[in-house]
Amino acid sequence: MTRAINFSAGPATLPEEVLRQAAAEMLDWHGSGMGVMEMSHRGKEFISIHAEAEADVRELLAVPAHYKVLFLQGGAMAENAIIPMNMLRGKTSADYVNTGEWSKKSIKEAKKYCSVNVAASSEDRNFTYIPKQDAWKLNKDAAYVHICSNETIGGLEYHWIPQTGDVPLIADMSSHIMSRPVDVSKYGLIYAGAQKNIGPAGLTLVIVRDDLIGNTLPFTPSAFDYKQQAENDSMLNTPPTYAIYIAGLVFKLLKKQGGLAAVEKNNIAKAKILYDCLDQSSFFSTPIEKSDRSRMNVPFKLKDEALDGAFLKGVEALGMVQLKGHRSVGGMRASIYNAMPMEGVQRLVDYMREFEKKHG
Ligand SMILES: *Cc1c(COP(=O)(O)O)cnc(C)c1O
Repeated sequence: MTRAINFSAGPATLPEEVLRQAAAEMLDWHGSGMGVMEMSHRGKEFISIHAEAEADVRELLAVPAHYKVLFLQGGAMAENAIIPMNMLRGKTSADYVNTGEWSKKSIKEAKKYCSVNVAASSEDRNFTYIPKQDAWKLNKDAAYVHICSNETIGGLEYHWIPQTGDVPLIADMSSHIMSRPVDVSKYGLIYAGAQKNIGPAGLTLVIVRDDLIGNTLPFTPSAFDYKQQAENDSMLNTPPTYAIYIAGLVFKLLKKQGGLAAVEKNNIAKAKILYDCLDQSSFFSTPIEKSDRSRMNVPFKLKDEALDGAFLKGVEALGMVQLKGHRSVGGMRASIYNAMPMEGVQRLVDYMREFEKKHG
């Protein structure tokens, strides 16, 4: 068996040792005689898996006690609707910062439920930077301020935390959660689909300050009511049990690796070899402002678009897959989440240098 070097933006590569452990436990988890998929979510076995996964999220992200950690379904796209339903709290407007494709989707969805003030946007320069806070036009009566803290398609990442005063800050962290430590106390709510950096699709992680929940729009589905889910330990209905189990194995591995400070160090080093390659090249380039570059998703272009096909063909011959950029931006994109080993990035960089020598 050869494992692909998988640069997919999501669902994305998972740590091999997690997959091996899951395979070994497929038919019989810890002598229970059941695989995790077959377990009642109300049984003691799954309840222990669920509780450990939650405890590990709390430990890894140092989640303060007055925050709820919820394991939900629907993905980040569903959260784009669920958030206004839960977080407007009697208000009628919310602030959104527009930094690219995922921000735009969040804005579009929120407009169904409230009036949206786009407090800042980098659309003027094709989403190649994050607008500085002093340019934001925040509304002090907004229910919340929403950002996408890592734009998966565009390749932008916040390396600072916006100041929003008493207005809760909400962040879509789908594509960089668990890649670095986060000061959770600076946020009212953090959400993330699991399939980028945590585990399988089908699980959505929500971390929310407990005083903000319980005042939903009247038509909010019960399964999407944070308060009801929190009161039932995310088990108002059947949670995505297998996805929670795999995520739990990933959390254990992150702890074994030294926690998120160690993980971040590794991610900085990984991103650096790729960005250094881009910066030293006159053939490859990335349009993203240096200070706002994502460590997780690295978009880049070849000087001559006509060589894209040849580049990708050579890449695949070396076992590297999913490097083609998103259809909305073209070019290439390397997603280098936690589970992408340094050697994978090094292999890509070696190939890029060779390709440039040949065609540059
Ligand atoms: C992938 C992604 C989404 C969409 O997640 P789904 O699980 O497909 O709903 C939303 N926001 C960001 C930043 C993403 O990377």
